[in-house]
Amino acid sequence: MTNSAAQTQPAPADTTFLPGPVLLLGAPGVGKGTQAQLLMGRFRIPQISTGDILRSNIAKGTKLGKAAKDLVDAGQLVSDDLVNEMVADRLAESDTESGYILDGFPRTLNQAIWIDNHLAGAKIALPIVAVHITVSYDELLHRITGRRTCPGCKSIYNVFSNPPKLEGKCDIEGAELVQRPDDTEPVFIERMKTFEAQTAPVIEHYRSQGRFREIDGDQPVESVTGAITAALRSLRAT
Ligand code: AMP
Repeated sequence: MTNSAAQTQPAPADTTFLPGPVLLLGAPGVGKGTQAQLLMGRFRIPQISTGDILRSNIAKGTKLGKAAKDLVDAGQLVSDDLVNEMVADRLAESDTESGYILDGFPRTLNQAIWIDNHLAGAKIALPIVAVHITVSYDELLHRITGRRTCPGCKSIYNVFSNPPKLEGKCDIEGAELVQRPDDTEPVFIERMKTFEAQTAPVIEHYRSQGRFREIDGDQPVESVTGAITAALRSLRAT
């Protein structure tokens, strides 16, 4: 199964449905980023990935990037204050008014409480809905350790399930594919421990509030997108 949004045919845009604030929750490798990109195309709302914002700051060598680099490389969480501030800045931008998909945030109970309070005073009237994508441990390990990305066009491959035509090279750009430093097996194990200890309680927090759905992420990418879309419609209809 491919884990790549770049290689999946996008569904037509649907601007009649207002998704509001959506949290995509799940362990590393469940496909949050891929699904967020596809939903972004379908509903024309932005994907806000705290991991992407951190990686971009690390690549640019900003103060935030320098503070985050060692933690990200080791599979540990960056401090709540830094990440909350990053999200507050992003949510202040005007493209978030009809909704947005938060991908990889909140990851701790403190972050969840912070976003709940932050949105209680926000312009957007719709409450948060949360979608938890689940995938088995062994499948996650394959997805993470096999993931390779083109540094140019950002296409995602998997050496086990979706290899490039020529080993190590992007089919589109011919560029040398790269592996994220935190996509190795030892760091994956650390990220899973962090997920179980810090993010599992966030999932229970939203499950107990009711505006929550669980989706089986071990299906073809487009089936997962369809299931998430149906879940969002049903959550917003109630
Ligand atoms: P991701 O791309 O979502 O897997 O995130 C990559 C890494 O960025 C994580 O392993 C953390 O080190 C850091 N990170 C991303 N989102 C958060 C967050 N909400 N809180 C703390 N650290 C985060």
